[in-house]
Amino acid sequence: MSNTVLIITNSADDAKILHDTLARAKDGPFVVHSVQHLSDGLARLKQGDIDIVLADFNLPDSQGIATFDVLFKYSPPVPIMMLCNEEEEDLAAEAVQRGAQGFLSKGHFPNSLVPQALRSIIQRKGVEEALFVEKERARVTLESIGDGVVSTDVAGNVTYLNKQAEHMTGWLRGDAAGRPVAEVLHCIDRTTRQSVRNPVEQVIQYKKLMALSATSVLVRRDGYESSIEDSVAPIFDKIGEVTGAVIVFHDISQVQAMAQQMADLAQHDYLTGLPNRMLLNDRLTQAMTYAKRHGTQLAVLFMDLDNFKHINDSLGHLIGDKLLESVAHRLNGQVRQSDTVCRQGGDEFVILLLEDTHAENAAITAEKIVQSLAQPHHIDEHELHITTSIGISLFPTDGIDADTLVKNADTAMYHAKKKGRNNYQFFKNDMNIRAVERQSIEADLRRAIDRQEFILHYQPKVNLKSGEIIGAEALIRWNHPSKGTIFPNSFISIAEDCGLIIPIGRLVLRQACKQAKEWINQGMPAITVAVNISALEFRHQDFFKCVREILQETGLDAGFLQLELTESVLMRNVESSTTILQALKEMGVQLAVDDFGTGYSSLSYLNQFPIDVLKIDQSFVRNISANKSNGVIVSAVISMGASLNQRVIAEGIETQEQLSFLNAQDCSEGQGYFFGWPTPPQDFAEILLNQKMLAQPRE
Ligand code: C2E
Ligand code: MG
Ligand code: MG
Repeated sequence: MSNTVLIITNSADDAKILHDTLARAKDGPFVVHSVQHLSDGLARLKQGDIDIVLADFNLPDSQGIATFDVLFKYSPPVPIMMLCNEEEEDLAAEAVQRGAQGFLSKGHFPNSLVPQALRSIIQRKGVEEALFVEKERARVTLESIGDGVVSTDVAGNVTYLNKQAEHMTGWLRGDAAGRPVAEVLHCIDRTTRQSVRNPVEQVIQYKKLMALSATSVLVRRDGYESSIEDSVAPIFDKIGEVTGAVIVFHDISQVQAMAQQMADLAQHDYLTGLPNRMLLNDRLTQAMTYAKRHGTQLAVLFMDLDNFKHINDSLGHLIGDKLLESVAHRLNGQVRQSDTVCRQGGDEFVILLLEDTHAENAAITAEKIVQSLAQPHHIDEHELHITTSIGISLFPTDGIDADTLVKNADTAMYHAKKKGRNNYQFFKNDMNIRAVERQSIEADLRRAIDRQEFILHYQPKVNLKSGEIIGAEALIRWNHPSKGTIFPNSFISIAEDCGLIIPIGRLVLRQACKQAKEWINQGMPAITVAVNISALEFRHQDFFKCVREILQETGLDAGFLQLELTESVLMRNVESSTTILQALKEMGVQLAVDDFGTGYSSLSYLNQFPIDVLKIDQSFVRNISANKSNGVIVSAVISMGASLNQRVIAEGIETQEQLSFLNAQDCSEGQGYFFGWPTPPQDFAEILLNQKMLAQPRE
C-alpha cells in the first residue's frame, strides 16, 4: 500500500531525514512531496491525493499556531501532524487541541516507528471520515423523512426522536430522553379509548418485529389525536444482544378519512347524497335474509317522476338537479328512519320499506309520496309542479331476490304511467307480459321498415275564415300483418327509444313530400303538407341535410312543407335549435309548434325562433265547453300568436260549439274530426277535389 505524504518545512535537513525514514518503511512505499512555503503546501493540497501533511510551525511565509490553523481550515479531512522542536511542544499540544492528529518531535524523525505511526493515523482518519459521512447521512435521512422515528434503550426509555416524532408526539428530544416510551408515544384505542400497550417491551423480550393494532390513536402531549400506523423493531449489538428498539410511525388519519370518503362516494349518489343502487342492493339483500328468518314481508317502491324530462329539457340541468334534490328531501320525510330511499339514476328512485310491510302499509306510504311530491317545488324563481308514478313489489310474493323485486316494481311503475301517471300500482304477474310485448314491438318495427308496412293518412287543416282546406297533416299508420292497424301512440315512443325513429322519420318525410308533389302535379288546389318530427330526428346531425335532399329528390317546393315540432324539442337546446330552425326557414320550410301549451316554453325564446304557426293542443280545445278556464287559455294563445305575428291553429276541433268559440276569438286555422278524419291519400285527394267549404265563412 502506498501513501502520499506532504512535508512542509524550511529545513532541508529535516526534510531529508523524514524522507530517509519513510523510505525505510517495511509495509509499503510512501510517496513524499516536500515544499518550503506554506503557500506551496496549500497549492499542493489543492491538487488532491495527499494522505497526510507533516508541517513545521515556522515557515518563511507563516509562523506559529497560525500555520496549523490555515492548513486545518484549508483541508480538514486530511490529517495533519505538526513537526516541532522541544521548545515548541506546548504549541504542538495546542495544535492537537485544535484538531491536529499529533506531533513529531525533531529528535524522533529517524525513528523506525514513524512510518507505522503515520500509516495508522491515515487509516484512523479514513475510518472516522467514513463514519462521519455515514452518521450524517443517517441523521439527515431521519430528520427529513415524513415518518416519526423514536428509539429506546433496552429498558424501553426514549433515547432519540426525530423531528417528525417531535412534531407528532409534542415532546422535544431533550424532554423525552430517558422517559418511558409509553409516556412519550401515548396511544389509545379508537373505540374503547383505553391506553394500548406499547409493543416495545415485547419487541425487546421476543426480539422480533411488531406493530400497534390498526385502531390505535396517538395522543399528542397537548391532547390532539391522530390515527397512526407503526412498526417496532429490536436493535441488536454486534454479538446479537438487544440494546433497544426503534419505532417508526406515521399519521394515517388522512388516508383513513379518504378511504372512508371513497367508500361513501361509491355507495352514494353524488347529487342527492342518497344511497345508490349498490348500497340498496346490499341493504335489500340483508333485509331479505332478516325477513326470511322472521317470516316478515318487505316492500320495494320504484318511482319515476312524470314530467321531469320536460323540466330538464326546458329549464336546464341546473334546475333539474335542484328539483331532484328537493324530491330526495321530501322522500326522506315520508319514510321511517329504518327505510332506505335510494336514487337509482336519472329521475328514478327506489324505496325499501323494512318494517313488516303489508300491502296496505306500502300503499299508504306510496300514496303519501304521490301527495307530497305533487306539492309545488320552489326552485329559484320557478314554482315547479311534478307528479310521480310508483310501482310496488312485495317480498316474498313478487320475488325472492333483489334483482327480481326491483325489476317487478319497475314493471309496475311502467304500468302506473300507462294508467295516466300520478298514481301507484302493485305488481301483478301479467304485467311482465306487457314488458315482453314492448320488446316484440321493437322487433316487429325493424321488420316493418323493410316490408314497408307504414302508410300515411292525411288530415285536413282548414282556414277558419274561408272554410278552405289549406293543408294536411301526415299521420303515420302501421299496417301490422297480424295485429291490423297500429296507431302512432303505441309505437312512436318505442321507435324513439331504440333509435328506429330515424329511418321511420325519413320514410314519412319522403312519402309526404312525394305525395304533396303528386297532388300539385295532378292540378289539385295547392296545399301545405305537415310532417311531425320527433326530438331524436330534429337533433340528428343529418336532419337539415336530409330535409334538403328529400325536397330536391321529390321536387317539392320547400314552401309547401311544414314541420311540426313540440315545445320541449325546441327548448332542449335553444342555441342549436335556433340555428337549425333558421337554416330551415331560409330554405323556405314552414315551422309549427305542435301541442302548444303542454310543455314548458319560455316566451322570450319562442319569440326568438322563426316560428310560423302555433298549434293549440287539443286538450285545451276539447274542454272549451266543459271548462271556461280552458277557453281563457285558448284565447290567450290566440292573442299571443297575433302579437308575435304567428298563425294559430286549433287542434282537435270536434264540435260546432268549439268551432264557434274559436271563430269568436278570431282563430285563423283549425283541424279536427269536425272537418275530417285522417284518411288514406286517395280519399284525401277526393275531399280536396270536391272541396266544399268546410267551415262556414264568418260574415
Ligand atoms: P299530433 O301531431 O298532435 O297529431 C294529432 C293527433 O290527434 C293525431 O293522432 C290525430 O289523429 C288526432 N286527432 C285529429 N283530430 C282530432 C280530433 O278532433 N279529436 C281527437 N281526439 N283527436 C284528433 P294520431 O294520428 O294517433 O297521432 C298521435 C301522435 O303521434 C301525433 O300527435 C304525433 O305527435 C305522433 N305522430 C303521428 N305521426 C307521426 C310521424 O310520422 N312521425 C312522428 N315523429 N310522430 C308522429
Ligand atoms: Mg302534429
Ligand atoms: Mg298535436
